[in-house]
Amino acid sequence: MNKKQQSLPTLLAAALALAFVSVSAQAVVTDADIANDATTPNDVLTAGLGQQAQRYSPIAQINAKNVGDLVPVWSFSFGGEKQRGQESQPVIANGKMFVTASYSRIYALDTQTGKKLWKYEHRLPDGILPCCDVVNRGAALYDNLVIFETLDAQLIALNQDTGKVVWKEKMADYQAGYSATAAPLIVKGMVLTGVSGGEFGIVGKVEARDARTGKLVWTRPTVEGHMGYRRDGDKMVENGISGETNKTWPGDTWKTGGAATWNNFTYNPQTNLIYAGTGNPAPWNSHLRPGDNLFSSSTLAIDADSGKIVWHYQTTPHDGWDFDGVNEFVTYTTKDAKLLGGKADRNGFFFVLDARNGKLQNAFPFVNKITWATGIDLKTGRPNYVDENRPGNPAEAKTGKEVFSAPSFLGGKNQMPMAYSRKTGLFYVPANEWGMDIHNEPVSYKKGSAFLGAGFNIKPLNDDYIGALRAVDPATGKIVWEYKNYAPLWGGVLATGGGLVFTGTPEGFLKAFDDKTGKELWKFQTGSGIVAPPITWTENGEQYVAVVSGWGGAVPLWGGEVAKRVHYLEQGGSVWVFKLHKKI
Ligand code: CA
Ligand code: CA
Repeated sequence: MNKKQQSLPTLLAAALALAFVSVSAQAVVTDADIANDATTPNDVLTAGLGQQAQRYSPIAQINAKNVGDLVPVWSFSFGGEKQRGQESQPVIANGKMFVTASYSRIYALDTQTGKKLWKYEHRLPDGILPCCDVVNRGAALYDNLVIFETLDAQLIALNQDTGKVVWKEKMADYQAGYSATAAPLIVKGMVLTGVSGGEFGIVGKVEARDARTGKLVWTRPTVEGHMGYRRDGDKMVENGISGETNKTWPGDTWKTGGAATWNNFTYNPQTNLIYAGTGNPAPWNSHLRPGDNLFSSSTLAIDADSGKIVWHYQTTPHDGWDFDGVNEFVTYTTKDAKLLGGKADRNGFFFVLDARNGKLQNAFPFVNKITWATGIDLKTGRPNYVDENRPGNPAEAKTGKEVFSAPSFLGGKNQMPMAYSRKTGLFYVPANEWGMDIHNEPVSYKKGSAFLGAGFNIKPLNDDYIGALRAVDPATGKIVWEYKNYAPLWGGVLATGGGLVFTGTPEGFLKAFDDKTGKELWKFQTGSGIVAPPITWTENGEQYVAVVSGWGGAVPLWGGEVAKRVHYLEQGGSVWVFKLHKKI
């Protein structure tokens, strides 16, 4: 049948199909939507409120004058007998909230009513090996898909409307200690993911997949010496070794070198670079792996198209304290138009790098006590070590010399994301003041077993507080203000155009502070500890704020004396949504 002979029903069907396409085209999440997320107030499409993860919203409706009128609209319980840590940031699109929960669960909720639209519970096998609680940090949106990572190191894409599985990919072998807890990052139609498992001697990697199909595009190992691969038609081909084999790792140590990529990544469209943090080198006992141990405890800048490492900056060369360098690298533009990136590292120093080439611009402490180095040499970019404060070599003995280290291995800052305000030019960093007794022990690699070679006990440094939310000026290193919290801070931060900074506490409060003075303006008790970052968006002309509540994460599991001190905190699992009592 030629075109002229098309029947009326055929034409009608074609017209209906076109109409259907245009309706669904409005509802799907595009690359342009994701690129613009930081400046579009009516949705939250990405972890971090934009690919740069500044966690800044320009919305100014809720401000210092009226934040006292902020009240809950609805709350939703994740239910189930199992609770534990809830580190998830919800994402919002087309009147739906997508929020992940502990044990690899995800919910779609109506943003107006909190009504559950669907739930997906991933069936986890026995024998998963998550190091630091059964957490998840959130989902990614692309097209009509919502994509999230599971504790058995799978990546799952669900239909946003139905919650049905569209594709599912295995990222790594959970029996070897791999797991996955981050929120994926979408860049140019690709979904970017990493892996957890640095405590089990895994090999970290950054992977890009076609977000629509799950098909691997490239994979980049983060331990120096391993081969990268990229897609060429139907097969994966070699794409260059990461660094140079045996340059910074002796013998076979690079084969089990850790450098897990377990936290959220960021991206800047001007550099086309994906910024991925890497965790500790394995094992923790540094005497078993002399050398810098690239690319552990580093920020890696990876070209989004080629999957090659363009630059790296190692925050803790030859790490001996579990100072995972996974903290997010947040790019920002200075008043004189420089493109920089800030990172509040687990090792206690705040680093400012040129986002294009990784050159160190500034480095300063953002915690009060650091024992392992006296500072960062701004010329060489390397730390000035205090050698006697490295845990001693156990050599043939059972244990090496014990030292007291600050920060503790849970870090000056851990997984909880900071915010950068485009209004004040300040970073708002959720920090902790604590130290640890640590010693090294002999250890050898065994698949699926902890690969540490260390014993430790975390201790508070002060009687009255551990957590400290700090407003940090990246240009001067000045702490502009701080808010002290009794329990360690483990949530995340949101800054707004209304001059507010929001963060949650393990004691259960979501709090709002003045962004210039740090004055506490509002708080609400959510019923369990908050270890997740808040978000904000507008709907029907009203500004909403949301946060997930549910105490857990690494502190109760690894926190030693600190864990005992906060043992009274109760678990939970819910999401809360707030707006102003009166419509403005
Ligand atoms: Ca947006
Ligand atoms: Ca680690």
